[in-house]
Amino acid sequence: MEPPINEIALLLDALHFAADKHRFQRRKDPQASPYINHPIAAAELLARVGGVTDAVTLLAALLHDTVEDTETTPADLEERFGAEVRAVVAEVTDDKKLPKEERKRLQIEHAPHLSARAKLVKLADKICNVLDVTHHPPRDWTLKRRHEYLEWSAAVVAGCKGTNAELERHFAEVLAQGRARLDAELRQV
Ligand code: NDP
Ligand code: ZN
Repeated sequence: MEPPINEIALLLDALHFAADKHRFQRRKDPQASPYINHPIAAAELLARVGGVTDAVTLLAALLHDTVEDTETTPADLEERFGAEVRAVVAEVTDDKKLPKEERKRLQIEHAPHLSARAKLVKLADKICNVLDVTHHPPRDWTLKRRHEYLEWSAAVVAGCKGTNAELERHFAEVLAQGRARLDAELRQV
């Protein structure tokens, strides 16, 4: 069934909004890709691999890093995209006042308690980041750090299981490829 035109307009508005909010940010890959490529990739993965058609989930994927990484507030999201989108983004937003190690631990602890929509966004985010750490890692990351990132992501995703079989299968595939790639790089050094 075709999505209603107002849902398409809303998705394009979210893309416009997120692109504007992230406009001065870059990813950590050596090419310093535009930051917006990452939320786009996460939303596209949900739709293509996960078969997700729920507009709130796709909107939240496009907006998932705006509160954590820009000056956007949850109230801004609610005003423009509604309370449901605000709530899903809030669920996947780390508390930046906490130390990094604590934030990472809490992601593992909280994952099983997230709403189904937030689990979907989390799965897509982790798939995209595992792909980045495998193929386009930050220049200064050691193999050990990349390996730790993959295993931490797997622990978070383990808490999201039972939500979307295709996305879970895709994560397992991407993780296996990432592990194999790091093993191969380790044998070269
Ligand atoms: P960061 O959280 O600093 O960076 C990873 C995050 O950056 C991703 O989750 C992603 O978040 C974003 N990102 C942007 N571009 C990329 C890219 N190209 N590839 C991957 N991620 C990208 O790193 P860590 O997860 O390693 O967390 C930091 C922790 O690591 C600290 O606790 C620190 O103590 C520890 N550390 C470990 C070291 C080690 O060797 N093991 C060395 C130094 C620190 P998003 O989706 O939100 O954009
Ligand atoms: Zn993200």
